[in-house]
Amino acid sequence: MSEAWPPFWPDIHDQRVLDAIAVVPREAFVPPEYRRWAHADEPLPIGSGQTISQPYVVALMTQALAVAPNQRVLEIGTGSGYQTAILAELAREVYSVERIAWLARLAEERLDDLGYRNAHFRVGDGHLGWPEQAPFDRIMVTAAAAIIPPALIDQLAANGQIVIPVGQPYGVQDLYLVWKQDDHAVERNLGAVRFVPLLPGQPET
Ligand code: SAH
Repeated sequence: MSEAWPPFWPDIHDQRVLDAIAVVPREAFVPPEYRRWAHADEPLPIGSGQTISQPYVVALMTQALAVAPNQRVLEIGTGSGYQTAILAELAREVYSVERIAWLARLAEERLDDLGYRNAHFRVGDGHLGWPEQAPFDRIMVTAAAAIIPPALIDQLAANGQIVIPVGQPYGVQDLYLVWKQDDHAVERNLGAVRFVPLLPGQPET
């Protein structure tokens, strides 16, 4: 059965985002045993207790981030690399940090095979961002944090924006859009989401 891809989402209207979702093959980012559900609008397991986000949530977060073609983007929580590829379609450069080394390596291979040359990967603790590559015009965090990590605010360019789920690590969180202005930050709550936690501490192999 062939279904429309992307599906119709009433609140996703940014054509660049819809085009990116149309061209990135989600089936290349899910484990073989889940491939037949690659075009269902659901999160799927990717190993080590992690998940590839639901396509609608990817679309919502990407639309909220409002990435322009000349921008440099930091992503925290590479996971499968699917969101990384969507961002690589929209931005000039994408820098992605993941704490589980095997997931980072697999994501890097997938993006390389798909021909993305503007995505860069690092194994590390995303709470610390990627200071050597800062500042970033946009930052997307795809794991739930109790608070917005201060290093990420520091690494955000003037007038930069962050999209991040904030709240109880094993419950429901609120998706926040934070906009850094000259001397303060403005926040907007975009609604409830459920993400795996942004874990503290050392990277895992
Ligand atoms: N955007 C991903 C979703 C990944 S799920 C996708 O589309 O597939 C969240 C990811 O965040 C997991 O891979 C998890 O290992 C990672 N993560 C959790 N805590 C982290 C931390 N402190 N630093 C970096 N990555 C972290």
